[in-house]
Amino acid sequence: MKPASAFFLAAALFALTLLAMPRMTRIEFVDQPSVATQLPDRMPSWSGRYILFCQNPAHGETLILDERPTVCPECGGELNPLSSFELAVLPADTRADKRQYTRTDGAILQAAIVFSGRDRSSIHRPEVCLIAAGTEIVGRRIHTVSLPNQKSLDLQLLDVQQTYRLPDGRTATARSYFAYWFAGRGRETASQPARMFWMAWDRIVHNRAYPWAYISIAGAYDRPGNEPLQRLDDLIQQIYPLLHQGATSSASAHE
Ligand SMILES: [Zn+2]
Repeated sequence: MKPASAFFLAAALFALTLLAMPRMTRIEFVDQPSVATQLPDRMPSWSGRYILFCQNPAHGETLILDERPTVCPECGGELNPLSSFELAVLPADTRADKRQYTRTDGAILQAAIVFSGRDRSSIHRPEVCLIAAGTEIVGRRIHTVSLPNQKSLDLQLLDVQQTYRLPDGRTATARSYFAYWFAGRGRETASQPARMFWMAWDRIVHNRAYPWAYISIAGAYDRPGNEPLQRLDDLIQQIYPLLHQGATSSASAHE
C-alpha cells in the first residue's frame, strides 16, 4: 500500500470511528503482542544495560544499570523505563523496555520497545518526542536491513542534528540517527499511516485492539562512512530473531 493511500484510508477510518462511536460495542483488548515484551539482555556481540528514569522529582536522573532494581539506588524513588514526561502523556497501560547496548568493540546503541495498550494513543509519531531545544530532523528515509533467510526489514530512519553551546560560547553540532518500525498482529511496517490503518481496521471491523510494538534504535554518526549504520544493521540482525522468539502470536495468527 502506498503511504498516501494508507494515510487516506486511516483518515477515513478515523472519521468512521467517530461516527460509529455512540453505537459501537466495547472494544475487546486482545493482549497478544507480536514480539517479545522485553528486549534481550544479550546477543552474540552486544550486551544490554537497563535505561531507567528516576520518578522522584527531586532526583529525576536517567540511570543506566546492569541490574533492574525495584527502587532508585541513589534516592529510593520509583524507577520506570518511561520518563516522567512520557508517563504523563501516555496511557497508564503503556508497557516499555529500554536498553543501552554495547558491542564487544565498544560501539554503543540505545534501543526502546513501547507497546500500545487498550487506547491507541500509546504510540505517537516519534518525531514529536525528538523535537527538543536545539534538535532538528534533517533527513528521513527508509533504511532496509538484510535478515537471515533472504528476508529484509524496512526501518524509518531519521537523521537528527543537535546544536549545542561549548563552554567557550561557540556552537557545535552533532549528528545522530533514530530508526524505528512497528510490529503488531503478525504485521510489520516502517510506516506510521499503515500502522494506524491496521489498528483502526481491527477496531472497526473486528471490535478488537491488539498491542502494537514501536521498536526504535538510536545511535551517533561518530565515525565517517558507513560504520554508524553498519552497527545498526548488526544490532537489528541479532535482535530481530530474539524479539520474534518470545512472541505470543505470529504471522500465522488469523482473523
Ligand atoms: Zn532517584
